[in-house]
Amino acid sequence: MKDENQPIIKTFDKCPVCGSTERFVADLARKEGLENAEMYGLNCRPGPQGPHGFMGPVIDEKKMAAALIGHKFPLYIAPIDACGKCGLVYTFRQEVHIAKKMLLPATPPGGRGSPIIPPFGPGKGLT
Ligand SMILES: [Zn+2]
Repeated sequence: MKDENQPIIKTFDKCPVCGSTERFVADLARKEGLENAEMYGLNCRPGPQGPHGFMGPVIDEKKMAAALIGHKFPLYIAPIDACGKCGLVYTFRQEVHIAKKMLLPATPPGGRGSPIIPPFGPGKGLT
């Protein structure tokens, strides 16, 4: 039986247009000898649980505003890189996680909190 808390992760190891496995930023990271070079891209670098990238909730904002703390909703993460051969920008990984609505952590005076999964609600967006 599938565990709903397990993320769905798809990876794409070659350019969907030309089929090249060359990737612009990941290949630079490899040349620099960086760990997890394949997780580097135009909008991302390795994080504790994988690459960060474009991310956001997939839920109606009105439903989210009315939802109780702990309400579950899908959250996508889509890191991108460019093909090293033809230049096409594409997602090399697509993730769907189940996130929970949570309270905003306290923001220290003069500083901005940066939660890994930002809380969403009225007036709150991705930062
Ligand atoms: Zn290509």
